[in-house]
Amino acid sequence: MHLFPKIPGKAVVVFSGGQDSTTCLYWALRVFDEVEAVTFFYQQRHHLEVEAAKQLAKNAGVRHHLLDVSVMNQLAPSSLTREEVPVLSAEEAREGLSKGELPSTFVPGRNMVFLTFAGILARQVGAKHIVTGVCETDFSGYPDCRDMFVKSLNVTVNLAMEESFVIHTPLMWLDKKATWKMADDLGVLDIIKNQTLTCYNGIMGDGCGTCPSCYLRRRGYEEYMESKHGTDCERV
Ligand SMILES: [Zn+2]
Repeated sequence: MHLFPKIPGKAVVVFSGGQDSTTCLYWALRVFDEVEAVTFFYQQRHHLEVEAAKQLAKNAGVRHHLLDVSVMNQLAPSSLTREEVPVLSAEEAREGLSKGELPSTFVPGRNMVFLTFAGILARQVGAKHIVTGVCETDFSGYPDCRDMFVKSLNVTVNLAMEESFVIHTPLMWLDKKATWKMADDLGVLDIIKNQTLTCYNGIMGDGCGTCPSCYLRRRGYEEYMESKHGTDCERV
């Protein structure tokens, strides 16, 4: 059985240059005949994110589209778009979530806008498939990362343009440990570990270590490494 079954056709990957979307980019390269990536610029606080995305796409040899959606910054202040909104620690974020509060890093409507624009771009470049790294499992409290939302938007985008796009969410039911395993299975563990930017404080690779994003990323990596080396030892 092939680990990554082939799907014919072309895909557009929504690509931020973080762990999840970079894993999706390499997944798409394995699965589809042709792949293009799209990165959205919304004057995010960490401009390095866009630079990381550019470099990663170049290294992966995929055509890269950079779309300016700065209006998101104007409409949706969050700690990812504004200097004055602080990034919470992992603990503070968990506490807020338990009280039903959305985290300060939430950019309202972001995935709705991104996936809608990705659909319009897909139509333009003749792609039937759209790939996004959203995930419901390590749920950070973002309503637009849920499976139900993506399925609903898929129907809406198709109705809006009379198309039959398929939005793929290869990470939807994976936790971070399983996402690291996927990167390893794709042979890109080191690229994901060293060249992606996931940290809410804008630090490449292993990041600041304390923000909610770094916490999930590091915990998943440690769990994966533990299970991998555990298995290796058993084999010996
Ligand atoms: Zn961080």
